[in-house]
Amino acid sequence: MKRRDFLRNTLIVGAGVMLPLSGLSASRRDAFTTLRRNVGFFTERGGTIGWLASDQALVAVDSQFPDSAAHCIAGLQEKTSHSMDLLINTHHHGDHTGGNGTFKEITEHIVAHKNVPVYQQQSADEGETPVVADITFETSWKQEVGDEIIHANHYGPAHTGGDAVVYFEKANVAHMGDLIFNRAYPYIDPGAGASVRNWVSVLDETLKTLPSDTLFIFGHANPKFEVTGTVEDIKVMRNYLEALITYTQKGLQAGKSKEELMNKEVLPGFEAFNNPDWFLKLSNNVEVMFNELITN
Ligand SMILES: [Zn+2]
Repeated sequence: MKRRDFLRNTLIVGAGVMLPLSGLSASRRDAFTTLRRNVGFFTERGGTIGWLASDQALVAVDSQFPDSAAHCIAGLQEKTSHSMDLLINTHHHGDHTGGNGTFKEITEHIVAHKNVPVYQQQSADEGETPVVADITFETSWKQEVGDEIIHANHYGPAHTGGDAVVYFEKANVAHMGDLIFNRAYPYIDPGAGASVRNWVSVLDETLKTLPSDTLFIFGHANPKFEVTGTVEDIKVMRNYLEALITYTQKGLQAGKSKEELMNKEVLPGFEAFNNPDWFLKLSNNVEVMFNELITN
């Protein structure tokens, strides 16, 4: 199977599994939830969409899929009559950028890390032209929009090679994209530049840069957990990744094979990640980790 097909199947499986579960938790019953100061999030299918909707600004972070993007736009336009200023992509995956074309009809600009359009092209179907950012950045981007100040920071490769942390400074809310799968085994994309070891540094950098009372929006969550949280949730993900590295590294040093190491259900202290309703297993993460350690 071509890597491209694998990626697409995985994302389809992911979205398919998440769809029926998305309405289960009480806090997620409403598609739109306000967090602080006109900033909130929208869930329907795929990666969580963040938004800023006020009299002076309309911004979205990530675009899910064409159908859910249309629902999101309709809801946002009920909140404000302001024209859409920006769509920001946290990374290139289809469940975060698939609705770019729908947003493009009303938004002035799309912003993303410079690698995002490249990966979108790389993973697109033949004959398909993905809708990509017209404003790109290498390490950081900042813009005043209405009475809010928005930052996007890239701290190096992690979930992909083009991840951004999007921070609404005045609201003190950060969208982490897929840098956080809340208590769920993350999807890792080495074909698009991912690095588990650098992912730990990226989360450390995030914790160092942002205030300790920041509210966070996560790309995905174990169906039993929330798609928002605090620094404590960032630390859990960080510590899980570190435990994954240590487990795999020690196994490699002890001469164990990839298959032996993949035959593991759960890492001690991270039992919450082991949810049968989630589409990835610990073995998926160990496999990627093993390959990362033996190739560089
Ligand atoms: Zn992703």
